Amino acid sequence: MSASRRVGFIGLGIMGKPMVRNLVKAGYAVVAHSRNAADVAAFAAESAAITVAANPAEVASQTDTVITMLPDSPDVRAVVFGENGLLEALRPGSLLIDMSTIAPSTAQEVHAALVAKGASALDAPVSGGDRGAIAGTLSIMVGGSEADFERARPLFEAMGKTIVHVGGPGAGQTVKACNQIVVAINYAAVSEALVMGAKAGVDPLKIIEVLNGGLAASRVMELRGASMIAHNFQPGFRVNLHRKDLAIAMATGREQNVPLPVTALVTQFFETLAATGRGDLDHSSYITLVEELAGYTIEPTG
Ligand code: NAD
Repeated sequence: MSASRRVGFIGLGIMGKPMVRNLVKAGYAVVAHSRNAADVAAFAAESAAITVAANPAEVASQTDTVITMLPDSPDVRAVVFGENGLLEALRPGSLLIDMSTIAPSTAQEVHAALVAKGASALDAPVSGGDRGAIAGTLSIMVGGSEADFERARPLFEAMGKTIVHVGGPGAGQTVKACNQIVVAINYAAVSEALVMGAKAGVDPLKIIEVLNGGLAASRVMELRGASMIAHNFQPGFRVNLHRKDLAIAMATGREQNVPLPVTALVTQFFETLAATGRGDLDHSSYITLVEELAGYTIEPTG
């Protein structure tokens, strides 16, 4: 197997695992690492194309392209700068593609550190959720150089469908913060509409059906509306991760002198979900807060 068909992958969670499966399907050999060694070993047993590395440095020593899909900025910093981290073993000419959602400033810091080593980095966060990761239809927003973007394109095409180079280092993360504002406020709008309509006596599935045919149509309602009504909040995308993303959005708004009053309010509802023990539920559990405010719980129908 030529080096270019071998890729490192660090972070095998809800998103990372299906993304690796799609890389394997596209013909790549994957050198995988994640924090839970037993879990990685079980995952690697799925395919002869997946081998296990004990730490990030070991991944970097076996590949010239490494993808990371980790929860948050401190996790990416640990994997890049920490003991047995990528920086210890990356060779000049290597490329790091960080697909986690992290702060734009951390993405820029990682990029600068890799460039100082003669390597390079892209920030390439995704949207489309676990379903998009499984189907290989993620939207990928990429920050970094044009040349690095073109080099990474075949990998992106194995995992995603809408793939856009949005600007220089950190720009991908800025666009992801924009994405998370729109998704969070959408959840608020859909939750309030469904609880009001249902409490007024209308079948909420019918509300979804007709709203999705007009200007109110939304992917949130299309993909999660029915499971919200059924109170199925298995993640998916955990409230705690969206909380992290809203903190990034609020910080970015402050840096850019852009007030985000509606995002600020919705952020406080996400804080409430976490403070009341719902941090590990899917973010569609937002509807339960609206139900509590309304003193009404939607009865699953159909
Ligand atoms: P997850 O918590 O399911 O997975 C993260 C994985 O990283 C875990 O396997 C964990 O063990 C591993 N990890 C954490 N720290 C590590 C370290 N220091 N070294 C090695 N491995 C480490 O999270 P996820 O839902 O897969 O999300 C990953 C990223 O993708 C997050 O930034 C999230 O915001 C973003 N994202 C998630 C979704 C979604 O729907 N779940 C959608 C779009 C973007």
